[in-house]
Amino acid sequence: MKIIDGKALATKLRANIKETIDKSTQKPGLAVVIVGTDPASQIYVRNKIKACAEVGISSYSYELPENATQAQVETLLDTLAVDERINGILLQLPLPKGLDGESAMAHIPVEKDVDGFSAENLGLLAMNKAKIAACTPSGIMTMLRSEGVDCTGKNAVVLGRSDTVGKPMAMLLLNANATVTVCHSKTKDLKTICQNADILVSAIGKAKFVTADMVKDGAIVIDVGMNRDENGKLCGDVDFENVKEKCSLITPVPGGVGPMTITTLMQNTCIATFKE
Ligand code: NAP
Repeated sequence: MKIIDGKALATKLRANIKETIDKSTQKPGLAVVIVGTDPASQIYVRNKIKACAEVGISSYSYELPENATQAQVETLLDTLAVDERINGILLQLPLPKGLDGESAMAHIPVEKDVDGFSAENLGLLAMNKAKIAACTPSGIMTMLRSEGVDCTGKNAVVLGRSDTVGKPMAMLLLNANATVTVCHSKTKDLKTICQNADILVSAIGKAKFVTADMVKDGAIVIDVGMNRDENGKLCGDVDFENVKEKCSLITPVPGGVGPMTITTLMQNTCIATFKE
C-alpha cells in the first residue's frame, strides 16, 4: 500500500510552473471574481490568490456585494473577457441566492475558463477535445499519471455526478480508456459496483462512507470528499484507516486531492496563457 502525497506532488509541480513563468516574457493574469461574503468562498479565494503570487501569476481580485445584480456580475465578466491582461477568469461559486451561476458562466469565454466549468468546456471534454478540464478531476489524473497508473481497460467507479467533480472525472477516466461506472444517490447495489472497481473515486461528501468491505484488494482509492467527522476533524468520504490496508494506492484527507486542485488551477492558467 502506498499513500499518495498530494502535498509533495503539488509543491513539485508549483516549482515547475514557477520556472516556466520565470523563463517567459509574458506573465499570466488570473481574474478572481467573488460575489458576496460567504466565509468558505473567501478562504478559497484567498488561497488561490496566495498560490498565484507564489508561482508568478498576476492575480486581479474583484469583489461584488451580496446584493449585486445578475447584470452587474455579467457586465464585469464581459469586461474581463476582453481585458488583455487577463488570461484566465475564475468566478467563485456558488453565487449568492437569486443569482444564476450558469448564466454568469456563459459570459466567460472558453479560452479564459480556467475552472473548466463552462458548458462549452464540458462539451469539449465529453468529445475528448478539451484543453482545460475542471481542476479537481484534472488534478486527480495528474496524480494517477505521476504514480505510473495506466487507466486503460481498468474498471473505474466514480461516486458522485456533480458537474464540477463527478461528471468531468468520469469523462477524464473514459478519455484515458478506463471502463467507467458513475454512481449517485439513486444507484442500486452500490457496494457490489464498488467491489469491482480497480480505481474508485469518491466525491459524494459523506464522512467515512466508503468502508473496507466495499473495496477490492489492490484497488486504487481516490478520496475527493471534504467532510467533518464526529469530532469536527477534517476527513474524506473514505474510512481511511481501514480501507488503506486493502489498497495499492490511496489518497489521504487532508493532503491528498485538495492541494492538487489549486495547483491545477495554476496549470490551467498557464495553458490559457501560453496556449500549450
Ligand atoms: P455535490 O454537488 O453535493 O454532489 C454530490 C454527489 O454525491 C451527487 O451526485 C449525489 O447524488 C452523490 N451522493 C450523495 N449521497 C450519496 C450516496 N449516499 N450514495 C451515492 N451517491 C451519493 O458535491 P461535489 O461538489 O461534487 O463535492 C463532493 C465532495 O467533494 C464534497 O465533500 C466536497 O467538499 C468535495 N470537494 C473537494 C474538492 C477538493 O479539492 N478536495 C473539490 C471539490 C469538491 P445525486 O446527484 O443523486 O444527488
